[in-house]
Amino acid sequence: MLFNEEITPQKAQEFFESSEKVLEFIAGIKWTDGFKCRKCGNTNYCEGKTPFSRRCTRCKAEESASAHTIFHNIKFPANKAFYIAYHVCVLGKEFSSYNFSEQLGLNQMTCWKFRKRIQECSSRINNSANNKIQLILMSEYRA
Ligand SMILES: [Zn+2]
Repeated sequence: MLFNEEITPQKAQEFFESSEKVLEFIAGIKWTDGFKCRKCGNTNYCEGKTPFSRRCTRCKAEESASAHTIFHNIKFPANKAFYIAYHVCVLGKEFSSYNFSEQLGLNQMTCWKFRKRIQECSSRINNSANNKIQLILMSEYRA
């Protein structure tokens, strides 16, 4: 099961290189038990417009793979966001936002904000001894 799957360094490398792989992974966790439309409860869907999104066949509401996860509404590629999340959560790196922005070619403020978002989500998760990156990725960010 994706949720308990260990993210090996090789797997992480694949995610660093491909936003689509990250979105596929997120969608796989999110809809492990199947799709259910948040608006009308329908369980039938077709493909949506963005990669790995799902569209309700009844009310036509579309949910992106990243909606209601830590990647909700981020304005930069999911693979770069995953890179930050992996380094902070799994490797426990105290990378500064300066380092992340250098490595990823992102604005430093963007990195800082996303890193803060991760910290806020991980502090809400109780079993801090065993903070699975999957739990953090799937936690809904409340701005
Ligand atoms: Zn619906």
